Amino acid sequence: MKHLKHQDLVAAFPYRDMRPGQAKALSLVSKVIGETDRNLILEAPTGVGKTAVGFSFLRTLENSGEGPLFYIVPNKTLVEQIKALHPSVRVAYGRSEHPCLYFPDQELTANEIPCSLLQDCAHRVDQETGETHERGAEKCPYLWHKYQAKVQGGIIVCTTAFYLFTQLFSREFKRPAGLVVDEAHRIASTIRSCLSYEITDWHLSRAIEFLDGIESPEVKHLDRFRKLMVRIVRGKTKSAAATLLEDHEIRELMDILMKIDSERMRDRIVAAIKKGAIDVKEKRDVLRRVEALVYDLGRYYRSFEFALPSAERHPLNYTFAASRKELADNQRVQYWLTIKAYYVAPLIRKLLSPRTLAYSATIGDPDIFGYETGIKGAFHSLESEFPKDRTRIFLPTDTPNLAVKERKKGEPARVIRRLVRAVIALKRKEVRSLVIVVSERERQQFLGISAEEGLDVISYGNGTPARIAALRFKEGEGDALLGTCANYGEGIDLPKGLAEAIFVLRPGYPSPMDPATQFEERRFGSMRWRLWNWRIMIEAMQARGRNIRNERDRGVTFFISQQFRRVVFAAMPKYLEESYRGQQTLDQCIKEAKELLL
Ligand code: SF4
Repeated sequence: MKHLKHQDLVAAFPYRDMRPGQAKALSLVSKVIGETDRNLILEAPTGVGKTAVGFSFLRTLENSGEGPLFYIVPNKTLVEQIKALHPSVRVAYGRSEHPCLYFPDQELTANEIPCSLLQDCAHRVDQETGETHERGAEKCPYLWHKYQAKVQGGIIVCTTAFYLFTQLFSREFKRPAGLVVDEAHRIASTIRSCLSYEITDWHLSRAIEFLDGIESPEVKHLDRFRKLMVRIVRGKTKSAAATLLEDHEIRELMDILMKIDSERMRDRIVAAIKKGAIDVKEKRDVLRRVEALVYDLGRYYRSFEFALPSAERHPLNYTFAASRKELADNQRVQYWLTIKAYYVAPLIRKLLSPRTLAYSATIGDPDIFGYETGIKGAFHSLESEFPKDRTRIFLPTDTPNLAVKERKKGEPARVIRRLVRAVIALKRKEVRSLVIVVSERERQQFLGISAEEGLDVISYGNGTPARIAALRFKEGEGDALLGTCANYGEGIDLPKGLAEAIFVLRPGYPSPMDPATQFEERRFGSMRWRLWNWRIMIEAMQARGRNIRNERDRGVTFFISQQFRRVVFAAMPKYLEESYRGQQTLDQCIKEAKELLL
């Protein structure tokens, strides 16, 4: 590997002026990655301008002829943002972003078609040569886009999901010479959600029916698998909504899966299509599902395997059963298994480049970050360049502890009413608020009390998606935006006075009923609290950052439940400590907030 020199990083910097945090970050990149070949993990608060640092790092490698180079982010919105900031990068999108040309009279995207089974598609682009299956045919937009990303090189910006599937499963790109992981605190949860599978009775039945029609010998095993799955789920869900599977149940399912030859199943379908025995247009939907099943069978097996402990390791995944007692008119699935990837750190390590730069505004404890994400290396926390006197973090002394075991009768309704009144008091001074709760029930309570108290709240529901509700609020509707942490805890920016006050009701510790919680209890015992507290800290700091996006913004955050006392101060980077107020009543906090924000 060539040396990564500081002057080359500076020369590749995309802007004329460099902020102090960017200069510091570039010198860390050259020292840590350039001289010692270790990964660099940066906690870089909003405003440091970390995207330009990542860009300079990758551009320097590109200038010295290295590749491939990837910049990965959790979602498509962020891909677009990076492209807007640095138009010279190349973006790579997944199938859902490209049209399929197979049926010219239908407007389908490339993820809505059983592509791998349609071997005769004239538009298919050979990934080695760039030629179409039929000479002169229009090129499949998805495959052509991917081919170009491979051959033309440069900096490729894509989602974590795209990177995971093309690097690890289809192995279409070489190991990257340089990798930037943006929003690095989210990589483990993003990968977990990519590697979760649902196996349902209804989808299996449809696949069995279809395969029976083409006399596939795999039908008998698949049917045995379905029957066993239904029996296990029925037995387990008599008394609980969702329950973890026991090791012996997983082994029984694996024994049957092992007998299914998915390659043979696939060949049989391709041959039937070739012979014209299947009307692809009419059967597109079921074919798409069977195609997914053919691919996923191998993954189910491996995922089950990882759900069992071995001599060398604890389980990495977990599987739980769930069912519905009755089916409503629009429901088809009654029994299902969910396989969830849990410990994804070893897998993430496989995805890293020998030169990886990972950053986020919230890393917290680098040891737990390393355990959760597998990304280990030199850690540095950069100072915020925003004026500290324009922000406050309040943890009032006279609000209740809302932990389920601690909360008093009448809570959280009582404290929610106080919050509604606090939001109204701020509104009188032209200060709008973002209110973050944990559960849907709390959201409904807040809406009900707001109606009684005369507060104009914008929220989602009744056909309005969370994104649209946020947009309406940004355009000036309402005095407060309300949502759960899952919807508005991160990823929503409310700068320039859009919501100068943020209220966070309580931390979202996992529910004891959740199979993930049951798994973590079994797996970690009392150590699980360290991990949960780390996640809560990250959540709290992410929520705090929603209203301060540039140096002119002012903003205050109120953490309401006393549960936050354990985590908020500990989570705070040093530079924020002087903005913390933990010894005042809620009224005193509101008073100080008004003075600051006027
Ligand atoms: S290769 Fe053909 S079938 Fe597959 S997505 Fe492209 S156009 Fe559609």
